[in-house]
Amino acid sequence: GKSEGRNVYRFFEPGMDALMRERRALEVELEAALPKREFELDFQPILNIGSGAIVGAEALMRWRSPARGLVSPENFIPVAEETGLIVQLGDWALRKACNVAASWPPDMRMAVNVSAAQIKSGGFARSVISALAFSRLPAERLELEITETVMMDESDAVLKTLSQLRGLGVRIALDDFGTGYSSLGYLRRFPVDKIKIDRSFIRDLDKRDTAAIVRTVIGLGLELGITVTAEGVETEAQLDMLRKAGCGEAQGYLIGVPTKASDIGGLLRSQALL
Ligand code: C2E
Ligand code: CA
Ligand code: CA
Ligand code: CA
Repeated sequence: GKSEGRNVYRFFEPGMDALMRERRALEVELEAALPKREFELDFQPILNIGSGAIVGAEALMRWRSPARGLVSPENFIPVAEETGLIVQLGDWALRKACNVAASWPPDMRMAVNVSAAQIKSGGFARSVISALAFSRLPAERLELEITETVMMDESDAVLKTLSQLRGLGVRIALDDFGTGYSSLGYLRRFPVDKIKIDRSFIRDLDKRDTAAIVRTVIGLGLELGITVTAEGVETEAQLDMLRKAGCGEAQGYLIGVPTKASDIGGLLRSQALL
């Protein structure tokens, strides 16, 4: 079986063994990093294209490891997902993000990424409700970003959880839209408030076919009454095209890079005064 195969690798390939040791070390460090408060959230602003106003931000996790330096979520989230640590880590992020958002002007929304393992862990709805209660953030200002992997299995339980949260006013965004196997199928089955077009499409907006796909997704959103957000907007030309296509929101380095809470808080407050 599978475990036998693993033993065979271990036995015959010393290189593989070193890799596994390094991986195990990473797991142990990650586990210890949470009580040591080594995780941080940065916040990236989200633009309402029509009004030109910043309408909120997405919380993006970072690990400031004394040994490894600043570690990208791409390198530690998958490990945290496999070990199950993501349930605690995600809960921390949710609480932290809600607390930060509660200090923002009253119409600013906070988007938080949620892993499949968190929703499947059982206590997810309770976690969200508790984070909202402690921070006093109105549910309408919280947006949960989920990917298709959340919807892939145990879909009845997931559907129930998402519907419950939506009933409270929490918004659900379908992240990385277009990268999965059956985005449209999930869109039909799961109630979502927002689609986030993956940045790989925005990067290739100057290609005719990609532009056609993006325009079609925007049209789909308009027809379904779902907000469409374009991720990874880096150039004025991209923003222009998205505006002409009727895209609702944009996020990306052109609008703003992820920044720490104190900086984005200032930005949001100064805008609220305008
Ligand atoms: P994502 O949810 O798709 O987040 C967007 C990523 O694109 C972020 O990378 C962001 O910094 C980056 N980005 C934003 N604008 C631009 C742009 O104009 N150009 C380019 N090239 N990149 C841009 P980051 O922060 O490294 O996060 C990577 C992924 O890690 C996220 O992708 C998300 O899937 C995951 N992640 C981050 N924070 C959390 C978290 O708190 N919980 C969970 N479960 N996953 C998280
Ligand atoms: Ca996201
Ligand atoms: Ca995304
Ligand atoms: Ca992504």
